Order: sequence, then structure tokens, then C-alpha cells
Amino acid sequence: MKDTLRKRILVTGGAGFLGSHLCESLLGLGHDVLCVDNFFTGSRDNILHLLGNPHFELLRHDVTFPLYVEVDEIYNLACPASPIHYQFDPVQTTKTSVHGAINMLGLAKRVKAKIFQASTSEVYGDPEVHPQTEDYVGHVNPIGPRSCYDEGKRCAETLFFDYRRQHNLSIKVARIFNTYGPRMHPNDGRVVSNFIVQALKGQPITLYGDGEQTRSFCYVSDLIEGFIRLMDSPDDFTGPVNLGNPGEFTIRQLAEKIIEMTGSSSKLVYQPLPVDDPRQRRPDITLAKEKLDWEPTIHLEEGLVHTITYFDDLLQRGLA
Ligand code: NAD
Ligand code: UDP
Ligand code: UDP
Repeated sequence: MKDTLRKRILVTGGAGFLGSHLCESLLGLGHDVLCVDNFFTGSRDNILHLLGNPHFELLRHDVTFPLYVEVDEIYNLACPASPIHYQFDPVQTTKTSVHGAINMLGLAKRVKAKIFQASTSEVYGDPEVHPQTEDYVGHVNPIGPRSCYDEGKRCAETLFFDYRRQHNLSIKVARIFNTYGPRMHPNDGRVVSNFIVQALKGQPITLYGDGEQTRSFCYVSDLIEGFIRLMDSPDDFTGPVNLGNPGEFTIRQLAEKIIEMTGSSSKLVYQPLPVDDPRQRRPDITLAKEKLDWEPTIHLEEGLVHTITYFDDLLQRGLA
């Protein structure tokens, strides 16, 4: 790539599930990548294969503290994403979302960098509008166990739009729906990783509640393509924009599919539904189609094949 086209790109949370795939894609496009991570939920293993690349740099740093670097673009992904992880230290979760956003926005302001925020479908809370469109303002409990994440992410969105209005920053806000694929943490309690590991080990598959709640699952490569298209979209398009796969499944259907695909003898067991667990979730992706010409291409079965292979390999190596 010509040096004039090569950008210096900061990815916070770059050693996590989504961040590591993003770093890989950006390097593949010929950019220089600075990965910043405090390794709370991410790991060096996720980016081990990138460490020898002269265009890749890793910095151990917590985004709740200021960061002075020179970059052209910032993807702000730093934040634990699974309920088990973000509820482990809820105050740190809010700090990461809010102080992290302030620091990264301050950095973007100083170096005049374009900045992307990994927001979430959780800003819609337990939605009363279905499927969710970006103009729906949400139904979020401000004081429950999920609030540190939901409200932290909502406040981060507020900060992004205020920095745009007050300081004319170039911002891009993606509302990400449930995403799965290789490098998901095997013990993070998310449904896809839990079910695959349980099925492969022949352990009971844990359905929370009656299993009739729904989610829409996006394969990681589709999502990362959406991130990059959003970052490269015209300056007047800020989002928020939903990025996710509109295919909607009940959690029981997901369990049955995984049992079938792994040929597992696991049985379904029922456990209590966590507090504030959303009953349904499906993105309306009309805006992403129109503005980014983006829609997912990987069907659930295909994505699950890759993900099952990944976890099977981890288990063979005694790592899950
Ligand atoms: P992840 O937990 O695998 O990655 C998060 C990364 O951020 C980890 O590497 C972690 O160590 C790092 N991190 C956490 N706190 C930090 C801090 N204070 N300073 C520096 N680094 C810190 O999660 P993920 O699934 O890759 O999610 C990435 C982003 O996407 C998150 O912001 C998450 O909220 C958002 N998101 C993910 C999903 C999903 O389905 N995976 C859905 C919606 C939104
Ligand atoms: N900041 C940072 N890196 C920079 C510039 C700023 O981490 O390169 C942090 C800084 O510590 C500050 C925050 O970003 O707390 C917000 O910066 P801003 O300039 O918006 O606000 P101010 O410094 O005026 O409080
Ligand atoms: N879930 C489940 N069994 C599990 C893990 C999760 O039934 O072992 C359910 C959970 O209650 C929720 C859905 O699966 O309804 C998705 O959970 P996840 O934690 O993956 O994501 P989120 O709730 O943040 O969408």
C-alpha cells in the first residue's frame, strides 16, 4: 500500500474476541495497527499470530487512564461484553465505558482522528419495539445488575454525540447485536460458547428460563466488514446504526441445532432466567443496508461449523 493511504489505527480492546478479528482485517488492508488492551477479558493468545507483524504494535493499558498517542483513526472496543465478565466488577465496567469514552474522545479531538464506538443492542434494554430500529430509545432498568453495561454504553453514546456537537468530531456509532465465532472466550457464559462447549463435552445444555426468549446471531466476519464500512462511510453519516444478523432464533432452537450439529448426547436442562434478561432481540438493518450497503452473508449453520471447529480444537488441546 502507498504510504499516503496507510493509516495508523488504534483499536482499544484489540486483544478481545471482536478486537482481534478487527486488528487482523485492518492489517490485511495494509494499515498500521496499535492494539491497546488491559487483558481483563482479552488475551495475548488472541493476537499471538499478529505479534511478529512489523505493522502491529501492542500496548498494555487501561483506557480509564489518559492515553497520548498519534493516530488517524480510533476503534473504541474496550469493555467486557459478556454478562459474567461485566458484572464481575460493575463499577469498573461503567468506568471503562464512560471514562474510556472520554479519554478516547479527548484523544480523537487532540489528534483530529475519526472515532468509532462499539455500542450495543443492550441500549434498547428489554425492548418493547420489535425488531429494533435505531430511533427506538430503549427500555432500560437504570439500577439492575445489567445497568453498569447498558447505561455505561448509553452514556458513551451521549458523549460521542456531544463531542460531535461541541467539538465537531467525526464519529461513528455501531449498535452491535449478539455476535459469535472463533476466539469467543470458552468460559464467558455467553450462550453460543456455553452450548458448544457443553455439547462437545457431553454435559447438560443449560437453558435459562423456558428457552423461548429470542436472539439474532451474527458471525464475526460479517460484523467486522460492517465496522470497516461504517468507519469508511461519508463524514455526515454518524450512526447510530444497527449491525447484526436479522435471523431470529429461540434459545431452545439454538440448543437443538448445536446438539444436532455436534452429534452430542447432551440433554437440555432448565435453570432460572437471569434478572432483566431481554425476551426478544432482532435488529432492523434497513439503515445499514441503505447507508453502508451491508448485510450479513453467513448463515447460522455455516458460522456454527467454524465456531464448533474452533472450540473442538481448544478442547483437544486442553484449553477449554
Ligand atoms: P471481549 O471481552 O472479548 O473484548 C473486550 C476487550 O476489551 C478485552 O480484550 C478486554 O481485555 C478489553 N478491556 C476491557 N476493559 C478494558 C479497559 N479498561 N482498558 C483496556 N482494555 C479493556 O468482548 P467482545 O465481544 O470482543 O466485545 C468488544 C466490544 O464490542 C465491547 O465494547 C462490547 O461491548 C461490544 N459488543 C460486543 C457484542 C458481542 O456480541 N460480542 C455485542 C454488542 C457489543
Ligand atoms: N486525553 C487523552 N489523550 C489525549 C488527549 C486527551 O487521554 O491525547 C484525555 C484527557 O486526559 C482528558 C480527556 O481525554 O481527561 C478529555 O479530553 P478533553 O480535551 O475533551 O477535555 P479536557 O482535557 O478539557 O478535560
Ligand atoms: N442463555 C442460556 N443458557 C446459557 C447462556 C445463556 O439460556 O448457558 C440465554 C440467556 O439467558 C439469554 C440468551 O441465552 O437469554 C443470550 O445470552 P448471552 O449471555 O449470550 O447474551 P445476552 O443476554 O447479552 O444477549
